[in-house]
Amino acid sequence: MSKIDLLKNQPNREDVLSYVWLLTERNDCFSTPQINVIQASLTRLRDENTDIHTFRYHVGNLTDYLLQAILKPKIKKIKVLTPLKKRTDGFDLETPVAIFFINRAGLTMGLSAARFLPYGTPIGEFDVHRDEKTLEGILENYNLPPDVSGRKILILDPMNATGGSIECVWKIIDQEYRQKRQQKFAGVYIANIISAPFGVFEVKKVIPEAEIFTVVLDNHLTRPGETKFPSGYIVPGLGDAGDRQFGEGRSELFLGAQKMLKSFVNFNSRSRIRLIKS
Ligand code: URA
Repeated sequence: MSKIDLLKNQPNREDVLSYVWLLTERNDCFSTPQINVIQASLTRLRDENTDIHTFRYHVGNLTDYLLQAILKPKIKKIKVLTPLKKRTDGFDLETPVAIFFINRAGLTMGLSAARFLPYGTPIGEFDVHRDEKTLEGILENYNLPPDVSGRKILILDPMNATGGSIECVWKIIDQEYRQKRQQKFAGVYIANIISAPFGVFEVKKVIPEAEIFTVVLDNHLTRPGETKFPSGYIVPGLGDAGDRQFGEGRSELFLGAQKMLKSFVNFNSRSRIRLIKS
């Protein structure tokens, strides 16, 4: 049965609460002032009057909180030599992670994660769009780091509506690293800003080992004719996360953000694993 047929019988919040770690409701990681900042950022994203620059700022902010919740960053002691030729004690982040994000909507999260994590953290990108008739993810391109063995696999996508895009990239990650290259992972983590119960349910079905973190769990997905949005949008949600960050299509802003990400990673290296469909 396709996802569009499954929409008629969507699971409730209560059906999936045990599958998901909610930043706004579980406070064993954050203090009340931090949760207040998270709620305020989320509200800016929901507000239809928020401009695209402010929107991206808050996506970045929430990504940092998601990473803190997922990784509970550990540090190791190191020594560095300052320009004054003084050796001094310091710290470095220890968490070995590989980041995977989904274009367009996940690009700001990818950029924020690349800034948050140690320089050189492997980063992979996927171009996926949704088939509006079936609500399945359609893979267009990917560009992946060659080696992620022993790392935590972190998949970033702001909206988990139907689980379609995440399932689509997971298939490739599993195939390219585990099946073809026999690489082992240190866990699989999904980071979303807004999720629908339907998406959580579907992701857990396809990736049972995944730990799913989301800022908030919304009510349901639009059914045909419910709003001006097509079927399968999150309600109340925030609209189209890609358009709200970059405007429509592959805008200058989107291409600029892609360029910025390239300063963190050599996307052109020959050893990268690619699928480029023209
Ligand atoms: N993608 C979005 O950008 N928003 C939704 O509500 C669902 C999918």
